[in-house]
This record gives sequence, structure tokens and C-alpha cells, in this order.
Amino acid sequence: MPEQLTNYQCPNCNGPLRFDPVSSKLKCDSCGSTFTVDEIDKVFFEKNQEAISVDAEKKQQENAELLQWNEEEAKNMRAYNCPSCGAQLISDANTAATRCPYCGNPTVVPAQFEGSLKPDYVIPFKLIKEDAVKELKNFYKGKPFLPKAFTESNHIEEIKGVYVPFWLYDGTVDAHLRGSATTSSSYETDDEIVTTTRHFRIERDGTVEFQKVPADGSSKMPDDFMDSIEPFDYKDLVPFQMSYLPGYLADKYDVSIEEDAERVNQRIKNTTISLLEETVTGYQTYVSDKTNTTITPGTVHYAFLPVWLLSTQYQGKNYLFAMNGQTGKMIGDDLPIDKTKMILRFLLITVIGIALLYVILFQVMGA
Ligand SMILES: [Zn+2]
Ligand SMILES: [Zn+2]
Repeated sequence: MPEQLTNYQCPNCNGPLRFDPVSSKLKCDSCGSTFTVDEIDKVFFEKNQEAISVDAEKKQQENAELLQWNEEEAKNMRAYNCPSCGAQLISDANTAATRCPYCGNPTVVPAQFEGSLKPDYVIPFKLIKEDAVKELKNFYKGKPFLPKAFTESNHIEEIKGVYVPFWLYDGTVDAHLRGSATTSSSYETDDEIVTTTRHFRIERDGTVEFQKVPADGSSKMPDDFMDSIEPFDYKDLVPFQMSYLPGYLADKYDVSIEEDAERVNQRIKNTTISLLEETVTGYQTYVSDKTNTTITPGTVHYAFLPVWLLSTQYQGKNYLFAMNGQTGKMIGDDLPIDKTKMILRFLLITVIGIALLYVILFQVMGA
């Protein structure tokens, strides 16, 4: 059970460090120093090792207080001591990177990256908070029935950069497709139309190799949101280093490889069948009779991918938006509709319609 934190502080002035997407370096806002990810990894390597090796007894002691509350709740919580200010932080058992609410120092829980928990890859943040706010404004554009109060009083409640744990699946899929198709042609004679219909049996076999098909491994993230902000561009996929995390939130995965595999397999099957179906051309009708797919799983990689989460409230309801922290692609909850605006628009169109009708009638009668 991980209980030790590492605070990522500036080696020059002890100010909080954060990974800056613009320069791809760690930046101290207090003294302006910048450091490469490698430099900071070296500085904090020992501290992280220490944090991991703290003896079990001490950990138990620290958690004893928690266990007194409620056993169910305590199981999902962890108590940490902030190394900078000594405050006790209570957080979710999956928290891997956060910020001390008392002193503001970015904190990382090194034990959440030990052994099999160590991510293989990370795509570092490319876009900053301001990009997310701008993109949200674009998202609102072209939505004429959005209530004014929603966009105007839209002090976004919360914006957070989150490294979301993802599983990336490799493998091979063998697919077989069977169906029937027809072509028909007709010609006319003096007294009849002759139509010839030809029937074909269609068979297709294909093997597709797939690489790094993503599925998020976090139960907190809505799956449809995470699927919608794809694709991530793997050209920025780099080996994982903890120094990419300061300034962001991160949770370790809590959805297993097996649980996510079902969702991924279904997606791969559908894609492969559509690929095979695309090769059935030149017929007028096609009906699929049977499809078969066999998936041979390959390696599964563990990666942290960058996501900006924005949330806002309107009339007591929460609205969530997610933006790909690398590409800027955004998805959000269905936006509220202003019924008055809609009715006004309808009335306006009706009035114009009637006016036009009068003009036309007037011209017809006048003629
Ligand atoms: Zn500094
Ligand atoms: Zn603190």
C-alpha cells in the first residue's frame, strides 16, 4: 500500500514545479528556472526510491486512523503526509499524481508506478489550460439555441489536466465473411422488358494485424468520451518518466486488461468486418449471411494519455467536457436548449413566410 509522496519542487528555490506543454520542460513559476525531464528524473530518483521502500509497519500505522471511520470507505482511501508542509492528505486509493491542497506543491505517489504498475509510455501534454477554454468556446459556437445564461455566466467550475491510464492492445484478427449478392440488367424488345438477375455467393477471408488500439483503464472516465476524443497521435508516445506528471492529476488504472479487452475486441471485429465488406463491390444488392472473427491477442501496453477535463453547472445540472490534451479534439455532454429562443426562431420564420405569401398574392392579384 503506497503511503509516501514525493513533492516535485524546484532544486533552486523549492517552488512548485510543473511540466510545461509549450517547452516540454519542467518549469518553476517562482524563479523561472527550467529543467529537462531527464534532469528532474535524476534529481528525484532517490527520493522516489526512498518513498517506495518505507516499511510496511509505518504505513499501517498511518492508515489506522482511516480505518476507524468506515471500513468500506477506508478501503478506497489512502492517507499521505505532504513532505513539504506535513499536512495529511486523504485521497483515492488510485491517485498517482495530485497537488497538496494546503501548500500547492505537486505530489507524485511513486509506489503507484512500481513493478507492473509502471506505464510503458506517456504522451506528454501538448496543449495548455487556455487552449481548453478556447476550444470550449468553439464548441459552443453554432449552437443557436444555447441559453445565454449558459455561455455568459459560464465561469467554468473546474478545469483539470489529467493523465488518463489507457491500455493499448496489439494482436491479429482473422475474419471470414459470407453473403449473397446480385446484379441485374434489362433490355427492351418490341413488346417486353427482359430482366436478367444473376446471383453470387460472396466469400471473403482476411487477416488484419492491429497495433496499440486504445481503451481507457479508468472507471471514473466515461468510456464514450474517451473513445470520442481519439485518435491520439502516437508520434509523441515516449517512454514513461514520472517527471511528466508534476502539475497534473493522474490515477493508476482500476479497470483490468481483461475487462477492457471485451470492448476493444468488439471494436476490432466491427472494423475488420467493415474492411472486408468494403471489398464487395460491383453488385447491386448485398446481404451478409455470416461473419466469423478470431482474435489472437498480442502485447498490451500501459500508457498515460493527456486529457483536459472541464466542468460547468447550469440550473443545478453538471456538464462535463473532455479535450484531447494532444490534438485539441473536444467532446461534451448534450448542451441545454433554450425553448424560448427556439419558439422565437419558429415564430420569426412563420412571420417571414406569411409576409412572403402576401407579397406573392398581391403580385398575382395585381397582375
Ligand atoms: Zn525555482
Ligand atoms: Zn503540502
